[in-house]
Amino acid sequence: MKPVGPIPAGYETIDGELAIGGMRASELVAEAGRTPLFVYSRAHLDARVAQLRAALPERVGINYAVKANPHPAVIGHMAPLVDGFDIASSGELALCAQVGIDPVRISFAGPGKRDDELEAAIAVGVTLNCESEGEGRRALAIGQRIGKAPRIAIRVNPSFELKGSGMKMGGGAKPFGVDADKVPALARTLIGEGAEWRGMHIFTGSQALSADAIIEAQGNVLELAANLADEIGHGCPKLNMGGGFGIPYFPGDVPLDLARIGAALAERVETLPPVLEASELCLELGRYLVGEAGVYLTRIIDRKESHGTTYLVTDGGLHHQLAASGNFGTVVRRNYPSAIASRYAAEATEEVNIVGCLCTPLDRLADAALMPAAQVGDLVAVFCAGAYGASASPSAFLGHGPAAEILV
Ligand SMILES: *Cc1c(COP(=O)(O)O)cnc(C)c1O
Repeated sequence: MKPVGPIPAGYETIDGELAIGGMRASELVAEAGRTPLFVYSRAHLDARVAQLRAALPERVGINYAVKANPHPAVIGHMAPLVDGFDIASSGELALCAQVGIDPVRISFAGPGKRDDELEAAIAVGVTLNCESEGEGRRALAIGQRIGKAPRIAIRVNPSFELKGSGMKMGGGAKPFGVDADKVPALARTLIGEGAEWRGMHIFTGSQALSADAIIEAQGNVLELAANLADEIGHGCPKLNMGGGFGIPYFPGDVPLDLARIGAALAERVETLPPVLEASELCLELGRYLVGEAGVYLTRIIDRKESHGTTYLVTDGGLHHQLAASGNFGTVVRRNYPSAIASRYAAEATEEVNIVGCLCTPLDRLADAALMPAAQVGDLVAVFCAGAYGASASPSAFLGHGPAAEILV
């Protein structure tokens, strides 16, 4: 038997079924018209932002990293809740525009921005988190051509990283950002050539569950930003301090101690170095905002035995849930939180392997998991599906196509 990860708080049972936003799993599927289905919960999104606002100093804004879940209904729901939006492509810019987000609230990071993407962003006043000298030059030239001063912040590649982070994105040679020692010269060039100076973006990593690691990284970020801003000599209108807040996915994972992070940040914000005193500060969070608000529902199509092992074969799989299948940056596959949604209140009595419908042994949703006895037609729930699910999985693989998505 292998345990499954911890089911996030806030999910209920109605008539023995998993319920989200007051609706039973079977009702949600009926409403969407089909499985597989991603359900995103407004109540979870609201609650998570409220927890953050309560814990963080008022001075520190919250940006939503759109790549975690770019579904337009989710972006639209986040619009009045958060302060800014971080995008990583002109496709994400178009999605933000579609739901009416003011471009001045948007910043654009990403190591390979094409000229047409730079132009689309500069034209509407999106802040570019500039990733290289070359990108800076191209942005200036495009700004000149279209008669618009580009709003530019520099993404700094720091020499430190967020410890225990799931994906390391700072420290040493990286395709992301400008090495810290080259930042002052580039900033002065960009400002000298007419860019509107917006400050710095320092992202140190992702999916950390240790408050200590995050507190340490934030201290390093503030210190580095202050030193660079002093050297640049034009202040730092805005400092995007990165994020890295993780969520529990696996057995033994413990939720982040948000209160401690907030208290440490409040202390630092009260004693900022002079050069940052007037800076607007923000964190950028993806999965922490939306990950636990999503559930993936998939229907059992077949139940079979092989050499004494029971397989529940679903109509979903890694084409929607690459991360849960264990194929998105994991070394050892572990079970995401999962359940039989249509028998949510029933006692777990049998060990099963829950798999997807793709013709590959990689397509696993839960291995050797203890579940209530389930039959063909029952619904399986995979939790923590609100981030890096639908948009981060190869939905064209094997031709089954994308899942349905609803916000309730
Ligand atoms: C991916 C990414 C994020 C969001 O990461 P999460 O782990 O989802 O919070 C934030 N900022 C940048 C620059 C990123 O690349």
